[in-house]
Amino acid sequence: MSPRNLRDLPAEALDGKRALVRVDFNVPLAKDSGVADDTRIRAALPTIKYLRDKGTRVILLSHLDRPTGPDPTLSLRHIVRTLEQLLGTPVDFIPDPAAGIAATRRLPRGGVALVENVRFWPGEEQNDPELARTFAALGDFYVNDAFGTAHRAHASTEAVAHLLKPAVAGFLVERELRYLGDALQHPKRPFLAVLGGAKISGKIDVIEALLPRVDQILVGGAMANTFFLAVDFTVGKSLVERDKVDLAKALIAKAGSKLILPRGAVVAPSLERRDERREVPCDRIPADCAVFDIDHTTQLDFRAHILRAKTVVWNGPMGVFETPPFDEGTRAVAEALIEAGKRGAITVVGGGDSAAAVRGLEEKFTHVSTGGGASLDFLEGKTLPGVAALEAA
Ligand code: ADP
Ligand code: MG
Repeated sequence: MSPRNLRDLPAEALDGKRALVRVDFNVPLAKDSGVADDTRIRAALPTIKYLRDKGTRVILLSHLDRPTGPDPTLSLRHIVRTLEQLLGTPVDFIPDPAAGIAATRRLPRGGVALVENVRFWPGEEQNDPELARTFAALGDFYVNDAFGTAHRAHASTEAVAHLLKPAVAGFLVERELRYLGDALQHPKRPFLAVLGGAKISGKIDVIEALLPRVDQILVGGAMANTFFLAVDFTVGKSLVERDKVDLAKALIAKAGSKLILPRGAVVAPSLERRDERREVPCDRIPADCAVFDIDHTTQLDFRAHILRAKTVVWNGPMGVFETPPFDEGTRAVAEALIEAGKRGAITVVGGGDSAAAVRGLEEKFTHVSTGGGASLDFLEGKTLPGVAALEAA
């Protein structure tokens, strides 16, 4: 289902009205004060700016981290200054949504208010209708632009959307659905998936959902190690899921020639002993070493496949990219996607760590999803409760 979008609302539905906007301001805070990385705030700016331009009064709702109750260190007050700087306008702070109605009515047209961390109230994660009613009273209509939490049915993402109409998708959610959705449903072919990361277990459903749709799946990262065991290679001290070997065997049987594994690996005795790293073929991983990256042969092989594709979906790093030089395989795949994009391919990156690995290069991909868990759920073909609760287009 595609939801009704903010752009579909006529001017009279916006002018002077109070928009209750669920955003994802779950940003890392700096140690001293303020925001360490404002990427997520920037991602919500197009929606906020559009509303302000239309004379709408904007009331923002977000969570921050996972408090179990009120916690001053996780107050959204810490992000007010950053938000004011990015918007170029003062932002009112509403510490208690239950006492916030007057403040929302006082806002001038185009004015902005930010409500305290929604997870300070226990009803948020329980999708409590009472709390949702409190939130709903703060607006005249609802906009969900928090793709990163759309896979959770919470009071500020799901229950509130049933109470406050119109309930529409903001520009970020619209964009996420367009790229993640289109990539799956109407891919230009060849359609290729590149999967990596730490574990198969969290991604089995993604593999199963993608297999029938894609022309090829390239597998790297620690995930590949479980597949190595499945074809009777040994993996030494590598991160591996021994209890998932049967599953890996079944996937290999189902995938046939679609599944492409690394030919070789970069191994070392430990991350600390990276100076002793070397490249080995995958059937010769030493017993006293662990795999930390794909090797150069595999980089070239994956690159060749990626350059032939017209649609590429990538989730999961090819190695321990946080510890250079084990980031080389991940970088090579990122570069291959960028090159494929220049040649006209649609390139989509999903997943929290994968997005972190391409930070600063976002513009070079067709789309880098801001939602880690949400993008995976969506690739699996699951319904996102925060999207399903919006009005259908
Ligand atoms: P995403 O968040 O993009 O979905 P994951 O969370 O599944 O990705 O995986 C990311 C993690 O996988 C990173 O922390 C990375 O260090 C780890 N990883 C990738 N390859 C290996 C490997 N060979 N050995 C150990 N960890 C790995
Ligand atoms: Mg991750």
